[in-house]
Amino acid sequence: RKSTVVVTGASSGVGLYAAKALAKRGWHVIMACRDLDKAGKAAESIEIPQGSYTLMHIDLGSLESVRRFVDNFRARGFTLDALVCNAAIYMPLIKEPLRSPEGYELTMTTNHLGHFLLCNLMLEDLKRSSYGDRRLVILGTVTHNPDELGGKIPPRPDLGNLEGFAEGFKEPISMIDGKSFEPVKAYKDSKVCNVLTMRELHRRYHESTGITFSSLYPGCVAETPLFRNHYPLFQKLFPLFQKYITGGYVSQELAGERVAAVIADPEYKQSGVYWSWGNRQKKEGKSFVQKVSPQARDDEKAEQMWDLSAKLVQTA
Ligand code: NDP
Repeated sequence: RKSTVVVTGASSGVGLYAAKALAKRGWHVIMACRDLDKAGKAAESIEIPQGSYTLMHIDLGSLESVRRFVDNFRARGFTLDALVCNAAIYMPLIKEPLRSPEGYELTMTTNHLGHFLLCNLMLEDLKRSSYGDRRLVILGTVTHNPDELGGKIPPRPDLGNLEGFAEGFKEPISMIDGKSFEPVKAYKDSKVCNVLTMRELHRRYHESTGITFSSLYPGCVAETPLFRNHYPLFQKLFPLFQKYITGGYVSQELAGERVAAVIADPEYKQSGVYWSWGNRQKKEGKSFVQKVSPQARDDEKAEQMWDLSAKLVQTA
């Protein structure tokens, strides 16, 4: 049988191109998307071969929808050999927080809590697979890390002592640290949680299950629709800035190839690590294991974040 991988947010950008690259490597790709019509058209438009993918509905901004996705996946008899947590929203211009049906701030829910729940539920599916090299990969980003140039631009991520999570994360609370709403920081905080989740999955489950858990920063993929909610001028200038000034610019194809490599290629069978590429914009740029930010490598914080997230998504 073909190996099966679930890719969340495969209707655009990195996820779409990762789906294509994985299909090319012979995988069957479950494109887990919130808009199936859009996802189907996107797959056709970049010519992912029909028969190499299945479209399935998931809204990561709703915990109930995540549970329903897992039920459907199982009901259809799929086996899970790898999982890519890729979907994300970035809403830099909103003034007031949006909310999930559960009442949680939406950026943190979509990017972190939805995936946290998905990982916890689908760990069981990965465990059941007899595939010899099961992997779970969560997309990271340079902006999680103030130690790097790309992560120095304010507002910086800061989980504080997770006061917002501890207090239930519902109105009037909108940030993980319980402070006032800042949409750019919410995105960065959620990406720190993604890295902490990956490291905690590794610590808790790698040895007992043999599953490889990792994250990656594919480079700045400045042309994806992630920036669709930014000012139009920003959308125009940002790719040029990345291409000619920072040199961090990476095409969507190359980013997709990098995700596929971390899922499928033997040299990426290393658990608990965060992959990055030197000379990011170059096709032959070499990958290396990069140190994550001080908060993202804080084991105590990882455990605290895990326990509080489990309460919020009701797996604990
Ligand atoms: P895009 O905006 O192009 O793609 C995001 C995907 O997530 C889309 O398919 C979108 O669906 C989906 N999505 C959003 N909300 C939900 C939801 N509630 N339920 C299900 N799916 C949802 O962004 P990118 O491809 O740029 O980003 C993908 C990942 O890569 C993110 O995790 C991001 O943090 C990371 N990344 C991106 C970088 C970049 O420079 N672009 C750099 C480093 C990391 P829809 O099409 O319906 O909107």
